[in-house]
Amino acid sequence: MSDTYDYIIAGAGSSGLSLAWHLIHAGLDGKKMLVVDQNLTPTNDKTWCFWQKETPSFAEVIHKKWTQSDIFVNGDHYHEQLRKYPYYSIRSSNYSSAILNELDQHPDVDLLESPVLELSGDEMTAKLKCNSGHFKADYIFQSCFSPSLKRQPRYPLLQHFLGWEVETKSDVFDENSFILMDFDETYRTGIAFMYVLPWSSNSALLEYTIFSQSPEELSVYEKKLELYLYNRYGIKKLEYQIQRVEFGKIPMTDSIHDPWYAPRVLNLGANAGLTKPSTGYTFRRIQEHSRKIVESLIRDGKPAPAPRSQRRFRNYDLWLLQIIHDHPQEALDVFRELFKNNSLDEVFRFLGEESNIRQDLKIMASVPWWPFFRAIWKTKNSVFSF
Ligand SMILES: Cc1cc2nc3c(=O)[nH]c(=O)nc-3n(C[C@H](O)[C@H](O)[C@H](O)COP(=O)(O)OP(=O)(O)OC[C@H]3O[C@@H](n4cnc5c(N)ncnc54)[C@H](O)[C@@H]3O)c2cc1C
Repeated sequence: MSDTYDYIIAGAGSSGLSLAWHLIHAGLDGKKMLVVDQNLTPTNDKTWCFWQKETPSFAEVIHKKWTQSDIFVNGDHYHEQLRKYPYYSIRSSNYSSAILNELDQHPDVDLLESPVLELSGDEMTAKLKCNSGHFKADYIFQSCFSPSLKRQPRYPLLQHFLGWEVETKSDVFDENSFILMDFDETYRTGIAFMYVLPWSSNSALLEYTIFSQSPEELSVYEKKLELYLYNRYGIKKLEYQIQRVEFGKIPMTDSIHDPWYAPRVLNLGANAGLTKPSTGYTFRRIQEHSRKIVESLIRDGKPAPAPRSQRRFRNYDLWLLQIIHDHPQEALDVFRELFKNNSLDEVFRFLGEESNIRQDLKIMASVPWWPFFRAIWKTKNSVFSF
């Protein structure tokens, strides 16, 4: 193992491994790469889902794909056919195993399991310090440390959830259709809903998900999951087994992230601000950023910083955050009208930031206008700086 590389990837999670994969598939041309993580054993602790029109990267590790979805809100039920945007799920363990195996066999890649202690850089070199020593590179790509924020969030929200992967004695799930949102109208201090990914007719991942300012005690999510399994599927505690638990806490914020951690040390993934503020979805944006980094390294010899959303999408996110943060009950009305008046394909196109202005206006005209007028007024000093 050398102490000097062309590229170092610090953090081998979703974004670090994605970039490493894109780099080796673009042809490294003799460039040497080091991938460092505190733990290189693949773990099944995250289920990444996303929608995409084109065939996605990592198609070989897709765990399940759905083209139907159900949404339940205020007593209404919408069963949706996804004609343009299928919904995919990938297990973090399968993704990590597949990529780490490829990296392990690559002659120009070294893998190192060690906690990263420090990252720094200057005009010429990026530097990494870890328990195993000091390393230098032309560029370091990091997802280990939170970067400085150019602006603190005004409406700090979290998406927090507890998921149970259950196996049931009887066949209760419709394996062809996932439940995107089954709203819990009894929840008052934020927006709460159940999210169900059915793997088969007798196994599924169910996540009780809340958008609010702080996480709940574990027992709150557990009670909701238990109650939901009984109310929606008629199954009692002894009729299912919990195979796996998944907990998540994803910031949904309007803060502005610095793209660089230090000179020549580029932020990746959640640390680069790639999480969509109003939804928490990050995975697909990570893949797009990896592609852009590799393209710009090949073209200019320099990596592309994480792209920011177009201003109008940043404003829509900001308005929705304001409504969820300050008026969660009205946010529920917004979601109800959104799903009532638009197909899920249209909603995914909008949330994926692939819609044009005319399509955005159709979406905006389909939801209650008052919460948005107020949000525009409340954020009027921020929208142009956002
Ligand atoms: C449970 C969960 C489910 C999610 N589901 C979805 C989803 O369905 N769809 C979606 O789009 N987004 C989802 N997200 C959001 C987002 O996609 C993930 O958080 C994603 O993993 C972010 O990728 P990342 O590379 O930024 O961070 P990570 O994947 O967390 O990778 C960071 C890596 O850095 C390593 N590391 C950290 N500190 C150090 C250190 N000091 N030294 C060495 N290594 C270090 C960690 O071990 C880890 O491997 C989910 C998030 C969570 C938590």
